[in-house]
Amino acid sequence: MTTIAFIGLGNMGNPMAANLVKAGHTVIGFDLVAENLATAREHGVTIAADAAAAVREAEVVVTMLPAGKHVIAVYGDIAPAAKPGTLFIDSSTIDVESARKAHALAADHGHVSVDAPVSGGTGGATAGTLTFMCGGAEGAFARAEPILQPMAGRIVHCGGAGAGQAAKICNNMILGISMIGVAEAFVLAEKLGLSHQALFDVASTSSGQCWSLTTYCPVPGPVPTSPANNGYKPGFAAALMLKDLKLAQEAAQGAGAATPLGAEAAQLYGLFNAQGGAGTDFSGIIEFLRGQKG
Ligand code: NAD
Repeated sequence: MTTIAFIGLGNMGNPMAANLVKAGHTVIGFDLVAENLATAREHGVTIAADAAAAVREAEVVVTMLPAGKHVIAVYGDIAPAAKPGTLFIDSSTIDVESARKAHALAADHGHVSVDAPVSGGTGGATAGTLTFMCGGAEGAFARAEPILQPMAGRIVHCGGAGAGQAAKICNNMILGISMIGVAEAFVLAEKLGLSHQALFDVASTSSGQCWSLTTYCPVPGPVPTSPANNGYKPGFAAALMLKDLKLAQEAAQGAGAATPLGAEAAQLYGLFNAQGGAGTDFSGIIEFLRGQKG
């Protein structure tokens, strides 16, 4: 079994660390929030005084932090403190440039590293069924795979440094765009006197079929488990969707890729967030669209 340092024990990090403990690993954790440390302790995580202390005896370090600036700051503290040859896994969703910088910081101190953002939300983190999208060298991925296993439903090696983050933001750009498309179709159907169920029955078995329709349907009724049936309680909050769409736009601008629908989706989620939608599920954008004049 492995000694694993876990930095960032928030909504995602805490249940992920708990699954590593359940798998028999020794987990040494650190977070800035006392309440999160107390929860981690209940899960069997040993609490360290700070991030550098958490990694000193570790063979593997997992980070689950809010954004690129946090990952770079924490790597600045922990890369010099860890034993050379430690495996660094960053599962935060961050910009591709910061992800590559984090790989370089780890390499500068003789470590190997993988960027491994996840999809599946807090439900997947608790159930141990997250999808991990990994970027890094073959050897680093081979070491990371068995560590990720107790937290994962699926683990995909997407390519070199930053490829995991690239896959994550491309996927979530599809998701943001497709949810707006599905929501617009329901709003149009309402104006045309077509029932939600009728549109669902046709589109879910026709060329309009997609995950935003068949799993996360933005109107109550056709898919009983979708957040629309629960007052748009997240799920996946609109604030996080906006964060990922902005990351996709930054990456598109840096790479010179044309993403006009991605840009429009970021704009619409920005307006939805500003008008009070940030804490609701991202499928709640249908309510914002209903409020717009045609
Ligand atoms: P969160 O805010 O609940 O957790 C982040 C934690 O990092 C907090 O507890 C915070 O105190 C801690 N932290 C910040 N700076 C730190 C530092 N210097 N040292 C130690 N700890 C520090 O966020 P979350 O929902 O757990 O998300 C974490 C990451 O996972 C984000 O990048 C998010 O985009 C991504 N993600 C979240 C979800 C989701 O559904 N919540 C799904 C997929 C991916």
